[in-house]
Amino acid sequence: MRAYIGLGGNLDQPQQHLLEARHEIASLHGVEALAFSPLYRSAPMGPKDQPDYINAVMAIETRLPPLELLDGLQAIETHHGRVRQGERWGPRTLDLDLLVYGDQEIQSERLTVPHPGIALRRFVLLPLYDIEPHLKIPGLGSLESVLAACPSDGLALILEAEGG
Ligand code: ATP
Ligand code: CA
Ligand code: CA
Ligand code: CA
Repeated sequence: MRAYIGLGGNLDQPQQHLLEARHEIASLHGVEALAFSPLYRSAPMGPKDQPDYINAVMAIETRLPPLELLDGLQAIETHHGRVRQGERWGPRTLDLDLLVYGDQEIQSERLTVPHPGIALRRFVLLPLYDIEPHLKIPGLGSLESVLAACPSDGLALILEAEGG
């Protein structure tokens, strides 16, 4: 199954955490890395008293069912010292979101796929577009149309290009 993961972080040299996470995701059993986007910088959502975020998107091919993939991603977050505090959208070293999982639409206690924030987040849509411009997002339509409809505030800037 083709899947897309959103990577983000804003504490403790987030670029480093993202680039390490990229290799750790690729090292999961049942996961093969296909592409990694450039890194983007974005202003924080929610609480503003925290550093800017670094964001990227990764394409994988996986034979893991979605919840097992989520387990793997959450184990990597924990390994990066992510502390789950009460505050929504609070600062973190590493955040790994399952954006899209093939053509599936999933609604369960632990998992909503496609990720519900996609349509309003340019820092997700732009790196996704970089690696898969023709992507169809289940339930939402073409990535191109979703991007065109996304509010342009909080525009993300490319930090650096990183080969696939
Ligand atoms: P947001 O989901 O709006 O980006 P967040 O990433 O800060 O916010 P977290 O605290 O990282 O939210 O995650 C809270 C819970 O969301 C997780 O424990 C997980 O079970 C659930 N969740 C639901 N859908 C997804 C998904 N597609 N990817 C990752 N986690 C998800
Ligand atoms: Ca692997
Ligand atoms: Ca998130
Ligand atoms: Ca998350």
